[in-house]
This record gives sequence, structure tokens and C-alpha cells, in this order.
Amino acid sequence: MSLIVQKFGGTSVGDLERIAKAAVHVKRAIDDGHQVAVVVSAMSGETDRLVGLVDGVEKDLDRQEHDAIVASGEQVTAGLMALTLQKMGVPSRSWQGWQVPVITDESHSRARVQEVKPHNLNACIDAGVVPIVTGFQGVTQEGRITTLGRGGSDLSAVILAAALGAERCDIFTDVEGVFTCDPRVVAKAHKLDKITYEEMLEMASQGAKVLHTRSVATAMNHHVRLQVLSTFTGAPGTLVVDEDEIVEQKVVSGIAYSRDDAKITMVGLPDRPGVAASLFGPLADADINVDMIVQNISPDGDATDLTFTVAKGDLDKALQVIHDSNGNLGARRIEPDPDVVKVSVIGVGMRSHAGVAGSMFEALAEKGINIQLISTSEIKISVLISEDYLELALRALHTAYGLDTDE
Ligand code: ADP
Ligand code: ASP
Ligand code: MG
Repeated sequence: MSLIVQKFGGTSVGDLERIAKAAVHVKRAIDDGHQVAVVVSAMSGETDRLVGLVDGVEKDLDRQEHDAIVASGEQVTAGLMALTLQKMGVPSRSWQGWQVPVITDESHSRARVQEVKPHNLNACIDAGVVPIVTGFQGVTQEGRITTLGRGGSDLSAVILAAALGAERCDIFTDVEGVFTCDPRVVAKAHKLDKITYEEMLEMASQGAKVLHTRSVATAMNHHVRLQVLSTFTGAPGTLVVDEDEIVEQKVVSGIAYSRDDAKITMVGLPDRPGVAASLFGPLADADINVDMIVQNISPDGDATDLTFTVAKGDLDKALQVIHDSNGNLGARRIEPDPDVVKVSVIGVGMRSHAGVAGSMFEALAEKGINIQLISTSEIKISVLISEDYLELALRALHTAYGLDTDE
């Protein structure tokens, strides 16, 4: 009998009525002859509420207790889903991360899964009982509760699908699948029937929150067949597949955006060897990731302006690190700017087509949108722009690459 993992996100389990709707999908799969393991998120808004409670005592005081508290939202939905299924006549029980167990390292709040021991869940499934597993949660070898990072229930589902040898991992959410761009921002975005793992990975890492980035990487590495679909409409969703399964490939498949970046410009840095190392070294030591970087040489050649981005949540910490080391660096001025967004166009077709960047810059120029930073990879071009122009930029690019629904 084939096994399917079904994961329900926060909106899909947002209240009892929605949990009942989600449970219908589980029952239907069982009636169709599948075995099912379920992964649930916390009710929408619940994890934010729990984080708020922790911060109300003291932020960053104890990450272990932070995770113990923040992981509790999923415990509630797992129990409620099990009860709902029982009421429908489907034997079911809840499993917390530590009960499975999902063993992780000790990096609390962004723990990495080391091993999932499948025997408890296999025994449960073999006994005809549907396991409802809490997403987002793990446990260290020492028995402390960990969480996998925000949005991490997708990752829990994929990891379970790999560990249980599932035929497919269905990610049920509040949209009908993966769209060419966030359908809440671009009305003309359309659902993709299929997208490659590589493109989905770029979309997710560039901000398309429909799938957690590490869940896509894990699915790709473990050959887990992933589908994203709606809990509410029952329409077929988007399959994440290998490149050779896509017959007609567009040059640009999708557009993603992220509001999570902040820009820092170091004005008038002395232009001598070692300056970049003395800046980025301490930032790395403080565990701050730097994403886009641009350096301009001044006309007289002895000073330079260096601009780069960090996560918005790291901005204050980054400025502190820079101020502490600027005695050695000697920049004239440090200019932070949190009011920026990153917009990325993504497509494996870029490998074989020239001119994709040109069309992007033209479409933005036509709307009078200034590009502050650019970065590229083999299948992606990202630009940093003022956040005021986000929606205009997304719509202009969506049209420029022929992605609008009416085309
Ligand atoms: P869940 O709670 O089910 O995990 P998320 O909020 O994490 O749901 O992800 C679904 C949301 O992702 C959608 O509501 C949509 O606004 C957003 N999203 C961003 N980019 C895309 C995209 N390209 N396709 C579909 N949804 C997207
Ligand atoms: N509940 C967690 C969060 O809100 C995990 C998830 O929903 O995927 O981030
Ligand atoms: Mg999510």
C-alpha cells in the first residue's frame, strides 16, 4: 500500500472548522487506499503569539526555553486533528517531535535534523492508526525540545516523507499551488502545474514563503515527490519535479520578493587591501549573513564606497559590529537603510538564453524604478530597490516576461 505524507499549514488548521476540512483530505486519501501520515503546523498566528510571550519576558535570554514554548502551538493542532479524525471514524493519534523522535542538533530555533527514527510511526501506521505529527519540532540527543526555523513544518513533512519512504509529500496550504509570483500581490499571477526543484529552491530562498527553503533542498536530495495544493478548493496543485519532466520551459518561471533585507553603505572607506576582510570577518564572527555586495572605487582611487545587505533582523547587531570595528576601517560615514526590498526573477531557461537581465533592467527603467544593487546566479537575477516600488516592479516584470494570466 502506498504511503502519502499530508502537511497542513497554519491557515489550514486555523480553527475547528478548517481542521475538519483538512481531515476530509486525510479520510479521502485513506478511502482511496493509501496509508497516510499527517504533519500539522500551529494555528495561524499562534507561533507569533508564543514568540511575543517569550519576548515579553526577555528576548534571547534562553533559546532552549524559547523553543520549548514556541513549539507548543503544534501540539495543540496535532491533538485536535487526531480528535477530529477519530470523530469521523478514522483511528488516529498525535505524535510530538520528541515522541517520534525527530533528532536534531542543538542550534535552537533553527535546528538541523540529524535523524528521524521511523519505527514508532511505522508501527502506528501498520496498526491502522493515522499518526498526526507536530511540524516544526525536534529534540536533541540530550532530550531538549528544538524548533526548525519559522515555516519549518514543511521541512518536518519532507523529512518524514523521506524517512517513511512515502510515495509523495502533499503540502496543503491557503493557495492552489506555486504561482508565477505571490498571488496576493500580483493578481495576474497563475498557478504552475510543475516547477523544477532548482527553481523552487531559488524561489523559496529569494522569499517565496509558499515552501520553506530547506524543505525543498531536502526533497531534492532525497528524491521526495512534492506537491503544493489548497486545503480549501480541492483543485490539482503544483508538482515539484526534475527538470526533464518539464516539456515546455519558459525563460523565466517565476518572480519572488523579500522584505527581509536591509542595506548598509560604508561611505569613504580607505581603498587598501584587507578592508573587506576586516569588515566581513567580524560580521561573520557575529553570525551575520551578508547577501548582496557592491563596491565602487572613487575617482581619486584612494577611497571606496561599499554597499551590502544583511537580514533586517540583524541590522542593529550589524551596525554595532561595524561601529566597533570602524576604528580600524576608517569609513567617513555609515548609512543604514531598512526600507528596501529584493526582487528576483528565476528560471532554468536563463542558462541557455541571453538578454534576461537586460529585459529586467529595461522593464524597471520604464517605470522609473532605480536599481540599488544587483546579484546573479546561474538561474536567477536579483535587484534591490526601494520598498515603495515593490508592487509596481513585480507587476511590470510579470508582464515583461510574459507571465500574466491573459498571455
Ligand atoms: P502555510 O501556513 O500553509 O505554511 P504560508 O503562509 O507559509 O502557508 O505560505 C503560503 C503563502 O505563500 C501564500 O498565502 C502566498 O501569499 C505566499 N506566496 C509567496 N509567493 C508565492 C508563490 N510564488 N506562489 C504561491 N504562494 C506564494
Ligand atoms: N508554526 C511554525 C511557524 O509559524 C512552523 C510552520 O508553520 O511551518 O513558523
Ligand atoms: Mg509555510
